[in-house]
Amino acid sequence: MVTIGCGRESSEEAVALADAHPEVYAAVGVHPVDAGKGNWRDSDVDWIRDLAQHEKVVGIGECGLDYFHDRTTPDDALRAFRAQGEIAADLGMPLIIHTRDAADDTMQILRDLGHDKVLLHCFSIPQYLDEAADRGWTMSIAGPVTFPKNLELRDAVPRIPEGQLLVETDAPYLAPVPMRGKRNEPAYVAHTLTCVAELRGVDVDDLDAVTTANAARVFGW
Ligand SMILES: [Zn+2]
Repeated sequence: MVTIGCGRESSEEAVALADAHPEVYAAVGVHPVDAGKGNWRDSDVDWIRDLAQHEKVVGIGECGLDYFHDRTTPDDALRAFRAQGEIAADLGMPLIIHTRDAADDTMQILRDLGHDKVLLHCFSIPQYLDEAADRGWTMSIAGPVTFPKNLELRDAVPRIPEGQLLVETDAPYLAPVPMRGKRNEPAYVAHTLTCVAELRGVDVDDLDAVTTANAARVFGW
């Protein structure tokens, strides 16, 4: 599994967890909400690059844009996003994207970046599914796919190419049905996997093998 950083402290904690547990890997970066709160310094690229050298670090992020939480000062978030995208492209590592109410700007920055190792975390932009598929990006499905009213996402999930599909928890947030409302934890990813298998009309064990193999290929472990 991958645990992610949202800033310097949590990125260092993610690396420490990866160091302590063989089955855990880490991603390091600055979350757009944190960046937008004035917590981004252009010099942050230095510690991100340093941490990315660690052998258990498999991605840069999560980073991206979040206009739901912050519509007022996206300048910092935009600079943080672009800078982290350049690090990922430079190091040839997956760029793990958080995007909320900011799909058009997120897509434009990713197109400009031209880096093909992109992972759309907590995938929520089915309107861009075909473009993401064409560009070879990975789409990671989280708990909201199990919410009955999330029809647009549930309709889209069967169209994700098999080799570009992952499942995740986004723990401690967004626990899937039947754990909805509780504190999410990694084990609950099984509920999300089962839901995705049902929507795609495939056997859950087969899909388990597919997403496990996809993760190994995407993250290079
Ligand atoms: Zn996120």
